[in-house]
Amino acid sequence: MINKIVSSLVLCGIWYATVLMATTQHHTIVIIGSGPAGITAAYYLGRSYKMAPLVIEGNPGGTLMSVSKIENWPCYESISGVELMQQMTKQAKKAGAIFLSDIVTNINLNNRPFTINLISGNTITAEALIVATGMTPKKVGCPGEDVYRRKGICNCALCDGPLFMNQQVVVVGGGGMALQNTKLLTKKPRNFPAQKHLSTSSNNIKK
Ligand SMILES: Cc1cc2nc3c(=O)[nH]c(=O)nc-3n(C[C@H](O)[C@H](O)[C@H](O)COP(=O)(O)OP(=O)(O)OC[C@H]3O[C@@H](n4cnc5c(N)ncnc54)[C@H](O)[C@@H]3O)c2cc1C
Repeated sequence: MINKIVSSLVLCGIWYATVLMATTQHHTIVIIGSGPAGITAAYYLGRSYKMAPLVIEGNPGGTLMSVSKIENWPCYESISGVELMQQMTKQAKKAGAIFLSDIVTNINLNNRPFTINLISGNTITAEALIVATGMTPKKVGCPGEDVYRRKGICNCALCDGPLFMNQQVVVVGGGGMALQNTKLLTKKPRNFPAQKHLSTSSNNIKK
């Protein structure tokens, strides 16, 4: 019984301390996301408009941080995602951007300044907000999809297509993006023997 009372008091104490320590800061411009989109926005705001935007990082550097080789970035034959994003972050900081490690849990756009709640318990208010939170690809739902992601199952024909040169490739999807990717994968001189399998509602599409 005493143990329960003590642990309840400790939990109350932690909650009270968190509430007491929570801060509210105001910034003219806030950017959510520190991938290429967020950092580019931060860089231009800093360099061209002499502003000091606050970048709420989420996962610092975004999706490219887990990509080992980028071969379509001008001036580099090949660069790792980590190196590229570190350089972009450095450049944006030099231009005046401020980076904050936190995650946005809620945004209130009903009144100005906008209110942004963070997982840390802190709150940010902002006159303007740029949302650069990227996207999450839809999953097919087949067995092994997570195990083979990036080891054969990919979401970007332009980025990863060359890895599968001269191999059979299946494109899953029945919309415009699937057609576009199939066209790209079968384009000469790449000459993929990609079988143009378009799943779902694509019966009317000529193979
Ligand atoms: C395996 C793979 C390989 C790829 N290879 C290439 C390539 O070779 N060349 C190429 O051009 N493109 C490549 N891409 C695509 C590239 O990664 C994306 O086009 C690019 O990252 C999109 O940038 P973004 O800034 O829009 O989003 P992201 O890079 O996804 O960044 C989104 C940011 O928002 C943050 N965020 C999200 N929600 C919150 C929240 N609630 N609070 C705070 N922050 C939040 C995330 O943490 C992250 O920092 C590849 C993608 C993948 C998955």
